[in-house]
Amino acid sequence: VANPDRSTDVLVIGGGQAGLSAAYFLHRFGLGERYQLLDHAPGPGGAWQFRWPTLTLAAANGVHDLPGYGISEALGRDSDTVPAATAVPEYFGSYERRYGLRIRRPFGVRRVDHGPGGFVATLGDGTTIDTRTIINATGTWERPFIPHVPGIADFGGRQLHTHDYVGPEQFADQRVLVVGAGISAVQLLIEIARDSPGVQTFWCSRSEPAFDPTPFDPEKGRRAVARVEERVRAGLPPTSVVSVTGLPLTPAISEAQADGILRWRPMFTRITETGVCWDCGLGNGSGFDGEDDHLDVDVIFWNTGFRSALDHLAPLRLRSAGGGITMTGRLATTVAADPRIQLVGYGPSASTIGANRGGREAARNVADILDRQRSIIN
Ligand code: FAD
Repeated sequence: VANPDRSTDVLVIGGGQAGLSAAYFLHRFGLGERYQLLDHAPGPGGAWQFRWPTLTLAAANGVHDLPGYGISEALGRDSDTVPAATAVPEYFGSYERRYGLRIRRPFGVRRVDHGPGGFVATLGDGTTIDTRTIINATGTWERPFIPHVPGIADFGGRQLHTHDYVGPEQFADQRVLVVGAGISAVQLLIEIARDSPGVQTFWCSRSEPAFDPTPFDPEKGRRAVARVEERVRAGLPPTSVVSVTGLPLTPAISEAQADGILRWRPMFTRITETGVCWDCGLGNGSGFDGEDDHLDVDVIFWNTGFRSALDHLAPLRLRSAGGGITMTGRLATTVAADPRIQLVGYGPSASTIGANRGGREAARNVADILDRQRSIIN
């Protein structure tokens, strides 16, 4: 493993779709020797290397090719039915080699502080790297989010998050409550109900998801992304791009509806030692078909999303009063408070297509900054 250089012009943090796209365009814009990319994962693939084994690319939401070199060309076969956790790492590895990207792994950035020439990144082993600019592309996978519900610490059963899911077999003969209204919640609820022998499933979320029977409309997708962009430009925390595009009514979902698997309940108000309850003890029922106000379960499975993994940037104090980081620039990849920092895979670029575009924009922006710095020095 090559050790990172101690100083660089551009430090790219994270080597998923967003980091690789940025690196590709840094080469295109003549900065191929002036950046390095650090990633703390053991191998290529970004978060995809950790996705559960039953998630195939066909079941995913639509994974865009990286710029310049597509997955079918890289792998020489159709990879739709292979686990994404195998196909994507293979693809990204081949991509990195093809373009000679300057990736160092496994090296994690623990924190970033201001330094004399820009920033100082401290790695997990305590060593430091000086850098003039930063392209941060650390994704969301490492920040699973579970909402606080009263009593959550009292539950005697098992709690897990999408992040920890490995397959339906582990739930055989159990009573499993799936929480969440996104694609992962619905897909995994169906998978567990169908493929876990003897399981009983239940489903709750804050609001009932509306399934969209119309084919995916790119214009609707653009509007949804625009709403997320508006939020980050205003300094608000981003919502997930997927959460605002809605859920497509696929054949698998229609069948699950017909089979009674998608029987939705409103969100419970408290967790107990043995399960969950709604307005517990007030005798209001579960708010659903006049059922009992308490539900005993063995497992609470949180499919409640992720947040941006940005803790290492905390010393830079980028958060605004709105709770997010105020973003600016053509595609909102630039931190308004300090344009030397670009965030890709944050807000509107938190999708594979957004990461491609955001990576290009971020590379362009740091190239411009370095150009301006050079003309000032000359
Ligand atoms: P990641 O792929 O998460 O890459 C981040 C990288 O940063 C990782 O390799 C990690 O090791 C590294 N890293 C993190 N912190 C540090 C650090 N401090 N120091 C060094 N390295 C660090 N989007 C789609 O467009 N289509 C889909 O089908 C789709 N399916 C999804 C399914 C799930 C379950 C989830 C959670 C998300 C899905 N998304 C999908 C959104 C998806 O995550 C993004 O589209 C895209 O993969 C994110 O790429 P990224 O490069 O931003 O992040």
